Amino acid sequence: MKKEFLYLSTAIIMTACSASRKVNTDTPAFAANPVVAHRGAWKTKQLPENSIAALREAIALKCTGSEFDIHRSADDSLVINHDATFFKLPIEKTNYDVLTQHTLSNGEKLPTLREYLLAGLKNNSSTRLILEIKPSTVSKDRGQETGAQVVKLVQELKAEPMVAYISFDYDICKKIIQLDPKAHVQYLEANQPPAQVKADRLGGIDYHYSAFQKHPEWIREAKEQKLVLNAWTVNDTATMDFLLKNGFDLITTNEPELLMQRFNALKK
Ligand code: MG
Repeated sequence: MKKEFLYLSTAIIMTACSASRKVNTDTPAFAANPVVAHRGAWKTKQLPENSIAALREAIALKCTGSEFDIHRSADDSLVINHDATFFKLPIEKTNYDVLTQHTLSNGEKLPTLREYLLAGLKNNSSTRLILEIKPSTVSKDRGQETGAQVVKLVQELKAEPMVAYISFDYDICKKIIQLDPKAHVQYLEANQPPAQVKADRLGGIDYHYSAFQKHPEWIREAKEQKLVLNAWTVNDTATMDFLLKNGFDLITTNEPELLMQRFNALKK
């Protein structure tokens, strides 16, 4: 009787432990396709790139990821924009209230990262939010500090399971891993072989597709190293098909609907 009780107790404890582990490490089951909308899904509906509307459209299309770019204003606001300038104002040297005197072409205010993440977390478990941290035009250190502020905000919003980080600045990538060892981080500049990226504890490579034509061995090496394999920015069917046939995990594109079609066609 005692023995049975012990077995039962152990079983209950083990179940409880595995259940709580599952909750703690749970990442949403993102959409089962490799489509990452580059700056959101903006093209078909002629939305501004990096707008909240483009993010919501990527979520509506059930892209597995939606990418966007982050800069930091002179007074420490994290804002979403591709270029280092907004209406010719250098973002890093301009205060937020000056930047927001201009709006996006659809009337949206220049989104802050907080607003963008909150919009992306709402009613969304299919589309990962892919945060590109732009290197600073002022100094390397400022770029790293931007990275640290981004990680802090993601943690404050408890958005970790929903995000991945990318950057062209290898030191920013390493800084993020240092701050959050479990973060999903992929490097963008194709000047590191997969083994080095793995050694530096990053989670993946996200290189321009031409890098994989120049270094086809990196495809196999990345898979061997269990790195996430991503290519940008792929807008033509021939390259899409090449990458799909080579089993890329993610493909970043301005044409998410077209890539979705190619993925579904090749799946059959
Ligand atoms: Mg980008």
